[in-house]
Amino acid sequence: MTSQVYYIIVAMILASTTLSIIFFIAWKTMGEMAHALSWSLAFLAAAAQWFFNLQPDIFPSFETYRLTVNAFALVVITLGIRGHCQRTHCQYLPGNLWPISALVLAGVIWATVIDPNIGLRTAIVPAAASVTLLLSALMIVRHREKTRPAEWAAAASLVLFAIAQGIAAVMAAMQGPGGDSVYQSLYLNFNFMTLPAGYMATGMFVIFMLASDISIDMKDIAIRDQLTGVLNRRGLGEQGTRAYANARRTGRPVSVVMTDIDRFKRINDEFGHACGDDALVHFSKILTNNRRTEDILARVGGEEFALILPGTRIDAALEIAGKLRSRVESDEMAINGIPLKMTASFGVATISNKDTCLSDTIVRADSALYRSKRAGRNQVDLDSSQMMMAEDGTLKRKSG
Ligand code: GH3
Ligand code: MG
Ligand code: MG
Repeated sequence: MTSQVYYIIVAMILASTTLSIIFFIAWKTMGEMAHALSWSLAFLAAAAQWFFNLQPDIFPSFETYRLTVNAFALVVITLGIRGHCQRTHCQYLPGNLWPISALVLAGVIWATVIDPNIGLRTAIVPAAASVTLLLSALMIVRHREKTRPAEWAAAASLVLFAIAQGIAAVMAAMQGPGGDSVYQSLYLNFNFMTLPAGYMATGMFVIFMLASDISIDMKDIAIRDQLTGVLNRRGLGEQGTRAYANARRTGRPVSVVMTDIDRFKRINDEFGHACGDDALVHFSKILTNNRRTEDILARVGGEEFALILPGTRIDAALEIAGKLRSRVESDEMAINGIPLKMTASFGVATISNKDTCLSDTIVRADSALYRSKRAGRNQVDLDSSQMMMAEDGTLKRKSG
């Protein structure tokens, strides 16, 4: 072994150990995400693999040395892709990838011991690495509706590494069964040139991706109501502003439905606060399940929710509120086996030329809601400043 190769391997042991520690700390401190632990173990196995590369003399034979290094390389590959499966909840690959790795290792054993073929036995592991790196990149870019910059960077580094491993596999295979020395040195030189960069780049970019995941989670926590999982006031502020700006730009209408559970205090008083919480979750589920994907739902107070309906005129919004009202009334929930009937009141308003922001529309929908309350609850009312119900039941816009 030349001294340059020796130093590269030592550098790889140190770098892999460092990455393993970083992923372990990430696992410990960022909510014990299973994928961070898989990647920590992957880099630990990588450090061990590089260590064995440095110490062929500790093995009883050259074959056992080669097989051990290959087995550890396969552990690295399997843990690596397993981490990406865990992070993205991938449905396409089998939950347990170890039998596949064992099969690949069996191929290496075959080409090493049973039917010796230097080209094949050297090519199998880089080829397997290339395939799994590409699959991991694919999982990353398919994970979210909108792939984040950190995810693009991680996927790009995995693809580049996959290409390098693919080229290495081809060079290895070109050695042929007897091991052509020109291709062997090509393969070794290429591998030593690309492997350190591949390990470091994928490791660093995946860490960057983890940090980006955390920031997305944090942002989500900040804009969501913990109990029901729908948006909170802050989330409504952000998304409502966007919906309002869109409506102004495109000239499309936006309507607002405000709703509040009737006599909710009684549920709390009679059955306890925990059952009150269950009732809130039940109510928010009815609202969630009966909205369109573009509708924005938020919990704006204790048992008061706002539903923003982009592209919806007031008559359609009134119909939606009416349907929701009857859904709440008919979908009974059970508390300790006792059916509980719940009703809610609704107020509807639509964006007007006088509104300067969505809050103006919300305020008018809110006053319509309180009129439904005063009128006896379990009903829908609409913003009387804008619209009126004609005697034949149709809606008319008020003049002025
Ligand atoms: P109304 O028909 O006029 O709306 O009467 P109400 O009893 O529903 O309204 P009120 O505003 O008097 O009571 C709302 C209650 O909601 C009071 C508060 O204790 C309860 N509440 C607010 N937030 C939560 C929560 O997160 N969980 C539970 N269980 N109760 C809550
Ligand atoms: Mg109420
Ligand atoms: Mg209330």
